[in-house]
Amino acid sequence: MAMCEDTLICNFPKCRAKLSGFAWVTACSHAFCDQHGSGEFSRSPAICPACSSALSGKLDIVRTELSPSDEYKAMVLAGLRPETVLDICARALSFWIYQVHQERLFQEYTLSRAEGQLKQMDKLLSQQAQSRELELNSMRGEISSLKRVMDEYKRKYSEVSERLMERNRQYQKLQGLYDSLRLRNMVVGEREVGGGTTRPYPPEAQPGMDRPITPRPSPRLLGMGGEGDRFFSLEPDGPRTFFQFSSPAKDRARSSIPKK
Ligand SMILES: [Zn+2]
Ligand SMILES: [Zn+2]
Repeated sequence: MAMCEDTLICNFPKCRAKLSGFAWVTACSHAFCDQHGSGEFSRSPAICPACSSALSGKLDIVRTELSPSDEYKAMVLAGLRPETVLDICARALSFWIYQVHQERLFQEYTLSRAEGQLKQMDKLLSQQAQSRELELNSMRGEISSLKRVMDEYKRKYSEVSERLMERNRQYQKLQGLYDSLRLRNMVVGEREVGGGTTRPYPPEAQPGMDRPITPRPSPRLLGMGGEGDRFFSLEPDGPRTFFQFSSPAKDRARSSIPKK
């Protein structure tokens, strides 16, 4: 707070109240508000709270009215020789100048401290910004490397899935081949066993095999087909070639023969 043109400020540490009404002034050129002056100078020996000077003289501490009345002003220096009047004025003015100078020093100190704090804060902020920038850059790098890894995985995945599809196609092809071979085997075997017995149906349309031949027939399905076939041919040893896939079906077929 700047010192007002016509106002003193209490010199008590950390008080800094604007002085008005009455003030306590000392021979060491310090001034205090009424509260701190009456508190500090009531004990003896009196010590200045601003500079620790001993104030033992009768006129070392004066409680003075800051805005004296016209009557007081008319009489206080009346009768004094001009040089005495000027001497008093000069001493009072140097008190004032000292106060102004002290306040100015205090303001400059406060200002330089604030500037130092500001510089420190500025430095800290720029350091933080720099470290954030570094952090951000490393994160960006990490993200781009992760992206590269992800792209690599995507590429591998599409490769693998393409290979899988290719394998699937091969598998389907082999399965179809295998099924057709097995079917051919079945037909050849039956002809050998039946000894040239004529059949009313082609192999695919035989009773008991009336369901369409699926790409992946299970051995159980084949067994059932063989079982049905056995009833028609009525050959005791005929279905041996078929029933190697499903012996339980063969047993069931034998046990049901006498009922027929
Ligand atoms: Zn005070
Ligand atoms: Zn003092």
